[in-house]
Amino acid sequence: MSFSLTQVIKNIPRTCDWAGIRYYHETTSFRSARNAQLAKNATSSQRGVMVEVLHLGQFAYYGTSDLTDKGIKAAFEKALKLCESASRHQLFKFDQSVRPNEKGSYTSPVKTSLDSLSAHEIQARLIELTRELKNHDKILEAQAWAMITQTDVEYASTSGASWQQHFEILSRDLIATAKDGNELQRRSLGMQGRQWGAEALNLDELKLEAKRIREEAVELLSAENCPTEATDLLLMPDQLYLQVHESIGHPLELDRILGDERNYAGWSFVSPEDFGKLKWGPEILNVSFDPTLPGEMASYAFDDNGVKAKKEFLIEKGILKRAIGGIESQTRSGIPGVSCARSTSWNRPALDRMANINIEPGKSSMQDMISSTERGILMRTNRSWSIDDYRNKFQFGCEYGQLIENGKITKTVKNPNYRGSTVAFWNNLSHVGDRSTFEIWGSPYCGKAEPNQVIRVGHAIPVCKFKNIEIFGGAQ
Ligand SMILES: [Zn+2]
Repeated sequence: MSFSLTQVIKNIPRTCDWAGIRYYHETTSFRSARNAQLAKNATSSQRGVMVEVLHLGQFAYYGTSDLTDKGIKAAFEKALKLCESASRHQLFKFDQSVRPNEKGSYTSPVKTSLDSLSAHEIQARLIELTRELKNHDKILEAQAWAMITQTDVEYASTSGASWQQHFEILSRDLIATAKDGNELQRRSLGMQGRQWGAEALNLDELKLEAKRIREEAVELLSAENCPTEATDLLLMPDQLYLQVHESIGHPLELDRILGDERNYAGWSFVSPEDFGKLKWGPEILNVSFDPTLPGEMASYAFDDNGVKAKKEFLIEKGILKRAIGGIESQTRSGIPGVSCARSTSWNRPALDRMANINIEPGKSSMQDMISSTERGILMRTNRSWSIDDYRNKFQFGCEYGQLIENGKITKTVKNPNYRGSTVAFWNNLSHVGDRSTFEIWGSPYCGKAEPNQVIRVGHAIPVCKFKNIEIFGGAQ
């Protein structure tokens, strides 16, 4: 960075109650291969600052990519004018207490920096992986991709906040599509993003995954369709993370509950009176907001309002305790929340967002969960999802299913789907997997708001078993 934020903040005119500045610099490379050939190689970069001002009890902000003294001063002046005009229609009078003056720094805990791999080396590995994925005459198409993001955020305020965060994030996937006559089946790794380094592109490990994915795609071509019945359902972490995202994460966003945010898939069935009372699930269900778990996609030390990141329980022993609401929504509503005010870039304000929303590991081993199942189904890897505007009724499709009969996995089934409604579904939870079943997943693509803010979210999840769930087979 070519200038000092603390110096910039010292120079701003003292005509407001409080001012802050957030610098954001991000570089993203997307690399992919298809059928043993290079498919895409693109890098983009963005850099700018968001200036925020508190005046007359009103916050206003202005983003600029003009990082000269003149450009930043102009941004402050525009934000100040917006405070004055917006304060005439004020919904809530804020003070400085919602912008803490924390100090510190954060760096993603990677083993080997992503900079240690050249673009050529990454591309060569992806090509090699598609070669492995395609190594069968029934495989129609093989794809492998990696998206690498490196982000620097710095923050300073007139009340003395000063912190820096450096993130190294890699998302990846391997996909095989198999075809036999009119039958088409797809298996994938399941899009997986984390804060990790070059170790996420270890060729030997990924080749083993590519082989498994290829074999499972071919296996599905001759599998029976998933049956239609109400039965026990074991969800593996690569599906359950999306279930948590859609049916716990989104309905607990406090701005949706307060009615501020109804874009995309709408608002929430949760009401402010539900906190401390609503039985979301049985006692074995513990859901945390945990930005402190090392290596998860949305781990950080400070949110974008400058609040220190802290682990909290959203659902504890099955009871709804907290919302996914940042310090502003908490102050307005009196509902307990978390350090979750996040923005997607320098040109967007912070909103109530998921970060890492996790299910805490339980006590059941994988073997216990299978052997205690008289009849049931295990499902892996999301293929499709649909949930209503209140985040209540949902339907999910998975890539791969296995029937469980008399305590044993007996056969593979294709096109497995399940449906339910949120609170009833979670109250049917019967087993939570132990730490040996716990996996870290995450997605770079959670969308919200207008103008749009696509943000990264993490979900660390054990295998879970549910009873009496409606399952059904489907078309491709
Ligand atoms: Zn989302």
